[in-house]
Amino acid sequence: MSKAKYNLGLIGYPLSHSLSPTLHKACFDSCQLEGQYHLYPIKGEAALESICTQMREGLIHGLNVTIPHKINIIRYLDEITTSANMIGAANTLYMKDDHLMGHNTDFEGFYQDLISGFGYEFVSGGGNGLILGAGGAARAVAYVLLESGWNLTIAARRFTQAKQIRKDFSNKQYKINIIEFSRDELLKQSSDLIVNTTPVGMHPEVDYSPWPLGLKFPSGTKVYDLIYNPTETKFLRKAKFEGIDTRNGVGMLIKQAAYAFHIWTGHLAPQKAMTKALYQALLDSERNYK
Ligand code: NAP
Repeated sequence: MSKAKYNLGLIGYPLSHSLSPTLHKACFDSCQLEGQYHLYPIKGEAALESICTQMREGLIHGLNVTIPHKINIIRYLDEITTSANMIGAANTLYMKDDHLMGHNTDFEGFYQDLISGFGYEFVSGGGNGLILGAGGAARAVAYVLLESGWNLTIAARRFTQAKQIRKDFSNKQYKINIIEFSRDELLKQSSDLIVNTTPVGMHPEVDYSPWPLGLKFPSGTKVYDLIYNPTETKFLRKAKFEGIDTRNGVGMLIKQAAYAFHIWTGHLAPQKAMTKALYQALLDSERNYK
């Protein structure tokens, strides 16, 4: 049996529905590389420390990190990149010389996909952005919009979480407003872009939406949902019905994985093949849920 060249994987909990192995298999196949992408469903701090040791020993060449470890993994690393430091979360680990490094490719994926969806002029032109939710992904989205010159409003059900984002980004002259996640507050917003970073509406809870029932979207806004399963959430369906430009999280998922694959292997990831494999996996998962 030939030895795998790249030993990659994902740490998080739970991981049973992860599509990352599908994406990276498409990368290995298209680039004709030998490799495997394992799921490591780990929970406690001891397990995090141990998997970092396996990376330092060269047993694992690269790891993605997902919920709930994107923030607490940082304390086990030797160094993090500037963007991961600003965002306060790492989703990609790699070795550089003897250093275990942490980087964030979610923000790169979101930035590039926002441009793919709505155009560079729109993204770089700035405006009023509204982020629903204040978790790990919200921090990456906030970083992209703030760095692109946007004013930001964060709608959070836990004010302390949103306040922490404002505090962590306070070393620059960014404008961040925080509002309650309520119909009355959302009604007052005149946003140019609304980004859902909550998991509300994700499979299997597809009948829910983070946007209050019966509330019209601000006129002229664009809407982005980080959720990729289903590809059209109730939130996006309502926005489309109102004639609004929308974008789902599929492109971001593919692009963040492509950036990570490039960091680990030096190969440009085949985004077409990844997209095809992802849609097939989503179709299969829909069939399994029925
Ligand atoms: P997270 O750290 O758990 O954050 C989720 C945020 O949503 C928290 O602020 C949470 O508030 C809020 N929230 C949850 N349920 C809510 C509700 N019913 N009403 C209002 N707020 C609610 O998770 P994450 O890592 O940021 O991921 C969030 C979503 O983004 C997931 O669906 C994930 O799959 C998606 N995502 C997609 C990509 C991509 O590539 N497309 C990348 C990253 C993440 P509480 O803390 O109060 O619960």
